[in-house]
Amino acid sequence: MDKHGIIIKGVGGAYTILADGIRYVCNPRGVFRNRSNTLLIAAAVIISVTDADKQTGTLHTIKPRKNELRRPPVANIDQVIITVATAQPDFNAGLLDRFLVLVAYEDIPVLICVNKSDITVCGSSFAPYINAGYPLVYTSAAESNGLSELRRLMAGKTNVFAGPSGVGKSSLINALAPKLELATGELSVKLGRGKHTTRHSEIFPLSDDPRDGLCVDTPGFTSLDATTIPKNKLGSLFLEFEQFASQCRFANCLHHHERDCAVKAQVGNEIHPLRYESYVKML
Ligand code: GDP
Ligand code: ZN
Repeated sequence: MDKHGIIIKGVGGAYTILADGIRYVCNPRGVFRNRSNTLLIAAAVIISVTDADKQTGTLHTIKPRKNELRRPPVANIDQVIITVATAQPDFNAGLLDRFLVLVAYEDIPVLICVNKSDITVCGSSFAPYINAGYPLVYTSAAESNGLSELRRLMAGKTNVFAGPSGVGKSSLINALAPKLELATGELSVKLGRGKHTTRHSEIFPLSDDPRDGLCVDTPGFTSLDATTIPKNKLGSLFLEFEQFASQCRFANCLHHHERDCAVKAQVGNEIHPLRYESYVKML
């Protein structure tokens, strides 16, 4: 019997598929076995149930996806929540800019979450992002601050937390959905072991109410490769460049050494120098 569902986790070659509210453990058909990157979390799939009582099946079809990320490896994402910390680890603007660009290149909406706001809030680090038009929320997983705002921004979407190790992604997920810990037991174990322990991705409903949306717990990343993005696309991936780029003298302006560049003219005004510096570095 065929069933339509989504991949909620994949561990050691076995995939858990959520279909009609039931979790089936499935082996992928041979053709997918050496192409594990095609079996992404949140991918929509069709399985054939081999044993309804044991809840097992064979995964035989992957439906077309609307988008995908490689790091973390997830499909059909509505929003990437790029999480950074005010401190511990120190805020790294270049890393945030690279991730913003990669997510924009995939055409996925982004939310910046600045966690550990209980330690310090260095507003000037984040003003360039707010001014540029990126949605941004300050949170403290430790002190449960900003969580209702975060929850509101996640509602009705399939969300992915991403960001460097140690910024508090797992803590935020736990704080958002305390029941999760009881349901899986994995997060508490993971938190107990500290850093670098998120080994696989999994998708969770944020609560029993489906309107609250879904959330993927992902392995953190510490570096990103933006070299696959064509140079002439890069400028369009910086939100605040967009409105000025159309006023550059040359339609193919790279906003670097060209004459009469409307983007460069705004550096120090509407465009923050650090953001332009990031752009030039990536270019
Ligand atoms: P992840 O690697 O991004 O999943 O980060 P974790 O959730 O494992 O958190 C890393 C460390 O930061 C842990 O020791 C947490 O207790 C701590 N932490 C998480 N959120 C906060 C926060 O809002 N404030 C403070 N002060 N510490 C936090
Ligand atoms: Zn220009």
